[in-house]
Amino acid sequence: MKKVIYIAGLGHSGSTILDMALGCHKKIVGLGEIYAVFNKENTSALFEKSTCSCGKKGKDCDFWKSLKEFSGSDKSTEDKYRKLINIFTKKYGDEMILLDSSKNSYPYLQFLNKEYDLRIIYLTRDIRSWIYSRFTRTKIPMFFLALRWFLENKKLLYVLRKYGVKMMTVGYEELSLYPEFILKKISRFINIDFNDIMLHPNNTNSHIINGNISRVDKEKKTGFFYDFRWMTSGRLARITSIIAIFNKMNKRLVYSNISETTKGEFHIFGKQKKEKLLKEHNE
Ligand SMILES: [Zn+2]
Repeated sequence: MKKVIYIAGLGHSGSTILDMALGCHKKIVGLGEIYAVFNKENTSALFEKSTCSCGKKGKDCDFWKSLKEFSGSDKSTEDKYRKLINIFTKKYGDEMILLDSSKNSYPYLQFLNKEYDLRIIYLTRDIRSWIYSRFTRTKIPMFFLALRWFLENKKLLYVLRKYGVKMMTVGYEELSLYPEFILKKISRFINIDFNDIMLHPNNTNSHIINGNISRVDKEKKTGFFYDFRWMTSGRLARITSIIAIFNKMNKRLVYSNISETTKGEFHIFGKQKKEKLLKEHNE
């Protein structure tokens, strides 16, 4: 059965860089936010103006150029998806895995789950980092943004659980700070061999015409870089005690892979490891 990987979660959570990193693997091709490409209102902007992560314009891109008319047609999303997968399979073969990072545009997930081997990577950015990033762009009060982070994640997770999909949660923070450790875990989840080429997203074979502009940012694409700007925000520091009501969900969604042992033990940090080293080398 054809394997499809879907990156789910809120917008502005690092999905484009994850899409590009996974797309470095020889068995995966990422196609960015496929749902947006299927929206016929986007067709001319995406195919004429947008630069694909392969460096060409949509209309000249090796993958997307044959899909321009089809993308702008009135066919149903499911029909478009089936056709897309047929073209993908003809071009890359049966074994190649398709990666979709449409995030929270999920009306076809139930259909994908029925007809294909669907694996979901649920990507979440720390609530403080996400709020700061959205506030700097929109000026929406931070508490409303915090509420949005909580409610939208709740809704998305409810729908995904209802569909009964195979899912793994990943935090943008754990991915950016420990990319090798997390990409190895993701590789096990989708059943591919980890390759360290994935640590350098600029090696991607992906064709992303709709996604974060980092897809064409030469500097950002060379590795994983964590955006620490939120740590300097006084406005955010002042409401931190209020948004602490969402801490439980934040910890579960963003840090579960690096804190899965005992409470307070974080990947290479913690009491257990320190005590073991002290015993072996200091006492
Ligand atoms: Zn391309």
